[in-house]
Amino acid sequence: MRDFLKLMTAVRPGSVLLVAILSFATIAGAQDSAGTINWPIYQDMAVSLMQQYLRINTSNPPGNEIETAKFFKTIFDKYGIQNEIFEYKPGRANILARLKGNGSKRPIILLSHMDVVTADPAAWQIDPFSAEIKNGSIYGRGALDMKNEGLLHLMTMILLAKEGPQLSRDVIFVGTADEEVKDEGSIWMIANKADLFRNAEYLLTEGGDNLLENASVKFVGVDVAEKAPFWLQLTATGQAGHGSRPIADSAPNRLVRAMARILDYQTPIKLLPAVEKFFRDVAPLQKEPWRSRFASITESLKDPAFVKELTGEREYNFLLRNTISLTMLDGSKQTNVIPNTASCNLDVRLLPGEDPKEFLATLTRVINDSTIKIQNVNTFKPPNSSPIDTELFQTISRITKIHHPEALITTKMLSGYTESQLYRQLGIIAYGWAPVYTTVEENEGVHGNNERITVKNIREGTREFYDVVVQISR
Ligand SMILES: [Zn+2]
Repeated sequence: MRDFLKLMTAVRPGSVLLVAILSFATIAGAQDSAGTINWPIYQDMAVSLMQQYLRINTSNPPGNEIETAKFFKTIFDKYGIQNEIFEYKPGRANILARLKGNGSKRPIILLSHMDVVTADPAAWQIDPFSAEIKNGSIYGRGALDMKNEGLLHLMTMILLAKEGPQLSRDVIFVGTADEEVKDEGSIWMIANKADLFRNAEYLLTEGGDNLLENASVKFVGVDVAEKAPFWLQLTATGQAGHGSRPIADSAPNRLVRAMARILDYQTPIKLLPAVEKFFRDVAPLQKEPWRSRFASITESLKDPAFVKELTGEREYNFLLRNTISLTMLDGSKQTNVIPNTASCNLDVRLLPGEDPKEFLATLTRVINDSTIKIQNVNTFKPPNSSPIDTELFQTISRITKIHHPEALITTKMLSGYTESQLYRQLGIIAYGWAPVYTTVEENEGVHGNNERITVKNIREGTREFYDVVVQISR
């Protein structure tokens, strides 16, 4: 089986060989999961537990994840799954549960954060903590980010405990607090309890980028890398005075000149392996001439005209370079007062592998004004990535193809941050993936209003997620 799969990754889409291998995989996969499991029972249970989970208000701040940790504990206890809550400060808790394998393979971690961002009930059609089902969707804060995935992880643990085969590796469920604000939960776990999971080979969490269009799965993007925020503040100082008598090198003037230089500056184009794969994989979805340009992206990027056109598209630009967005601006509070300081904040996002010191040195040269102070104003976490040529990536691709033969499966680098970054530092291969397929409109609910997930996603996702974990843990 493995030799076939290795071959599969070496074959370009569209070849006859690929089709043959996929149908082989389909038969094998169906035999693996069709067996004795009574799926409707578990799928009903998944919908009910999803509603219960969404009704627990873990808006962060304040979080109060101890309540969701207790919710999970009750269920794990019921199914005899070893588990422990870690309340690292009052009301803030992580939970870890484990199903033991025979140890022939290293563990896999199913990681989800239990906190959610706040919601303004007045802006929602349905109470954000009601978990009401309307038109086939369950509404609730966290329905997509990411209580849905926590629920799929929970169902996988239950299914493995009740129905699963002998596992080759430990399957570890981790629910964390505070991802949406400061990541205290995961940082605490890694600082204090890493012995419980440090030897893991794989980790699955949020971050996948899947697209549902006209009721079919168009695209499955497994997140293998994320960019890292490197927030900067620029402060200019100068002589203060009355607005009626201009000062040529005032703080605001200096700042604006510096900002103009930054806006004119183009960060260099860099093509990471995961991004190269992404462009090659999505090439067949493009119209010419982009189809052939994407297919040979390395070559194409040597053409300045193409680079200009491609990076003019927001969805592609961030994949290819460090980016700089000017966001906050601060100067005088009064029109007729020239202030002695003026400042702006830049939301800089660095590619995996980048050195912030080097970036800062370059930016200092670009600004070319030694009187302007540049400060880093967030906690920088080095961006990283995971390899693509793994058994887990192959398993996700194979199982997804079984359930959604029409889907294109590729890698995706996120512009945002996920907890994968923290766990990769332990040497764990971490991906953002879940079998949850949403439309562009549904995605607006993430950190927005009317966040919801279809009942179909919960029902079918329960099975697909289990299939992947069971396959990788045989
Ligand atoms: Zn999230």
